[in-house]
Amino acid sequence: MKAALLRTPGGAAVEEVPPPEAGPGEIVVAMRACGLCGSDLEKIRGTYTAAPPVIGHEAVGVVKSVGEGVEGLRRGMRVFPHHHVACGRCPICRGGSPTMCPHYRGTNLEPGGFADSFRVPRWNVAHRGVLRLPPSVDFERGAFIEPLACAIRALGRAPATIGSALVLGAGPMGLLSLQLLHLRGADPVLVSEVSAVRAERARELGAAMVWDPTTDDVVAATRRETKGGGVDLALVATGHGPAIAQALRTLRPGGTALLLGVPEKGGRLDFDPTEFVTREVSLVPSNAATEAETRRALDLIARRKVDVARLVTHRFPLERFVEAVEVARRAECVKAIITP
Ligand SMILES: [Zn+2]
Ligand SMILES: [Zn+2]
Repeated sequence: MKAALLRTPGGAAVEEVPPPEAGPGEIVVAMRACGLCGSDLEKIRGTYTAAPPVIGHEAVGVVKSVGEGVEGLRRGMRVFPHHHVACGRCPICRGGSPTMCPHYRGTNLEPGGFADSFRVPRWNVAHRGVLRLPPSVDFERGAFIEPLACAIRALGRAPATIGSALVLGAGPMGLLSLQLLHLRGADPVLVSEVSAVRAERARELGAAMVWDPTTDDVVAATRRETKGGGVDLALVATGHGPAIAQALRTLRPGGTALLLGVPEKGGRLDFDPTEFVTREVSLVPSNAATEAETRRALDLIARRKVDVARLVTHRFPLERFVEAVEVARRAECVKAIITP
C-alpha cells in the first residue's frame, strides 16, 4: 500500500510499505480523507517539536480489520480515530491539563493518517478515542473533527462572556474559531489576515471587518472599531510570532489573548511585561484536544452548526501528496484534503 512518510531533510515522500495488521485490541482503518494541517507542514519542514514526528492526524475512514478483544467496533464502520488520547487518571489529567498527560503523545496512528490504511493503537481504542461517524457526516466533513476540537478546547479556556473578538490568522483554525465565536455570541468578530482567499472566506463566514496586517495598522483599527476600548478576546491562529504581541496590544484592560497557533521555535515576545499587571491582560495557550472536545466537534459538524465544507479549497489523491504540500504552503489554499 501507499503511505506519505517524513523523509529528512525537510521533505516527505510517498512510498510503498507493507499494510498494517490489527494486533490484539487494535483496529486498522482504510483512510477515506485526511486533512493537511499546518503542523504537518512544520513537521515536513523539520521545525515542529511538540511530538515525535508522524504526519497525518485529521484522518477518517472505514474499519478494515478488528483485532482480538475489541468491543463495539466492526469491519465496515465509518470512524474518526483520535491520534492522541489522554489517560484521564494521572495528576496532570486530574489537574485539568489532559493534553499534557504523559500518555497523550505516547501513541499515534501508524504509519500516520496519510496512508491507504493505518493502525489505531490499543491505547487509543481502549480509551474511547474512536468515534463513529453518523450518516449525516461525510468523510470530508469528518476530517474536521480534530481541528475543530482543538478550536473548541481553546475557546473553552477563554472567559465565559466574550463580547468583541479579534481573530489573527484566517487559516482553517482561525475560520473554525470565527464560527465558534459567533456561536458563543461574540459580536463583532474582527479578523486580521494576509491572504486574499482566506480574507474572503472570513467575510463569507460573517467577520465584521477583515484587515490585512501588511497594509493596515491592526491595533489602531481594532481600537477604532471598539471605540477605543480594545477587544475582550484576541485569538492567535497563526504561527507568525509577532502576532502574539499584536494580539495583546489589541485587548481591552482585563482582556484575554488565546494562543492557538504554534510560533516558530526560538522566537521572543516583544511585549512589556508590566502590562500584564497594569492592564491585567492574560495570555492563555491551548494545545490539542481531548475526547470531550472531539465529541462536541462531531456534534457541531453533524448539526451543521459549523460550516466546515466551505474551508476545503483543494483535494489531492495520496499519490500527489508532495504536490499537495507545495500548494498548501501557498496563501491561496485554506484546507487541502488528501484522499486515497
Ligand atoms: Zn492539526
Ligand atoms: Zn493522564
